Amino acid sequence: MSRLIVVSNRVPVPKGGQPPAGGLAVALSGAMEERGGVWFGWSGDTARHDEASEVRTLERGKVTYALVDLSQRDLEDYYAGFSNRMLWPLFHYRMDLTDFTRVTLGGYYRVNRLFAKLLAPMVEADDVVWIHDYHLIPLANELRQAGVRCRIGFFLHIPFPPPDILTVLPNHADLVRGLAAYDVIGFQTPLDVENFETYLRREKVGRRMSDGRFVIHGRAVRVEAWPVGIETKAFADIAAKSDDNTLVQRMDESLVGKSLIIGVDRLDYSKGIAERMLAFQSFLTLDTEARGKVTYLQVTPKSRSEVAEYAAMEKEVAELAGRVNGQHADLDWTPIRYVNRTVGRNALAGLYRLARVGLVTPLRDGMNLVAKEFVAAQKPDDPGVLLLSRFAGAAAELDGALITNPYDIDGTAGAISRALEMPLDERLDRWRRMYERIAEHDVAWWCRSFLDALEAAPSNGASAEPQ
Ligand code: ADP
Repeated sequence: MSRLIVVSNRVPVPKGGQPPAGGLAVALSGAMEERGGVWFGWSGDTARHDEASEVRTLERGKVTYALVDLSQRDLEDYYAGFSNRMLWPLFHYRMDLTDFTRVTLGGYYRVNRLFAKLLAPMVEADDVVWIHDYHLIPLANELRQAGVRCRIGFFLHIPFPPPDILTVLPNHADLVRGLAAYDVIGFQTPLDVENFETYLRREKVGRRMSDGRFVIHGRAVRVEAWPVGIETKAFADIAAKSDDNTLVQRMDESLVGKSLIIGVDRLDYSKGIAERMLAFQSFLTLDTEARGKVTYLQVTPKSRSEVAEYAAMEKEVAELAGRVNGQHADLDWTPIRYVNRTVGRNALAGLYRLARVGLVTPLRDGMNLVAKEFVAAQKPDDPGVLLLSRFAGAAAELDGALITNPYDIDGTAGAISRALEMPLDERLDRWRRMYERIAEHDVAWWCRSFLDALEAAPSNGASAEPQ
């Protein structure tokens, strides 16, 4: 088995002997433990000098964590700028929120080059390298130019947009040329693969070959959808034991018999939180019987506050929650409990399990792990109902959910009523289908499938055809 090098923007360094938090980090560090490996990326710290050029390493068992501090300027241009104000909104189909500048684009390539320069000497000939997400698309090409010839794979955790949207990016051709340096490219869903294929065809830079592989700028690349999963069984076990969690007990007692509807999302415009609150408001207006009998808990930690669009949305959602409550609340009933905090994994699992309905209604999402966590946490003999946006990657797998269109506010309101009234038989039938799917296709399956494909790829470190 080859040694595994994982590269991601942030490196989840385990603290005080604890395993890293989050299913993805657990799966990847598990794979590295098995084979030996290196996890390389930004440390999360700002370098004191303008030119960051050192790697700090930490050894934990068979895994080396290789950390790079980035300068303030690099962070502003590469991370907050090009990654989060251009690629993130564009890849989530939000052309209206993009902000392209040559300065941030320069920063994006500068940091990718810096990573390649620092990482290349650590890579050995028979290693496999697995690069993650939109921050690092050009990294394989930079590594190839620095002489790295081993197999390199890439996984995109966010959606891949259709060509009419991608071509809004002034440097889309360069970005896609960079993808040709990989041996394997993984997307979340078949739709993302289809969008990529359509782009290659329209721009005349590649196509799908008869053996299923793609040729991109003259290089053969395996491109496939591998939907990311969660640690399904472990999460279900945590949920089953969550009764003695004090936060869960407090929540349960405070419900005094009311049905709980839950939403759990980072505060991000892609999550459709404002539309969801409007749908809940419409539900309260249409379903007068339900008033006073339901509580909608929205647990939403703030994120990326340094990016202007997020600050604006923070205000919009808070005001909306206040307005809906002002209009519908009674002396002893608050319809929306809007909470800007994170909760621990045990409490989160217990809260999902208390809920009769899970609202997962993003306007666009690569996968959405909350949807899978909600399913994993349900009581097998009395499961809640998942209401899921058709625009979440998870909708391609979770056919037992009530699928909604988050732009259709009244339609979503109707689906909330339907979910609350759904009889046990139907709930059981829908939940079992979803649970089976995520139990089999969990995060370990995802990690294994991608790495199997990467290891099976012919070793061909040649560059793409010249420009
Ligand atoms: P994204 O990666 O865009 O934030 P996902 O739904 O794929 O969206 O993953 C979000 C992860 O963050 C999930 O594992 C979820 O449990 C976690 N999370 C989201 N909100 C909270 C919260 N308030 N407290 C704790 N964990 C949270």
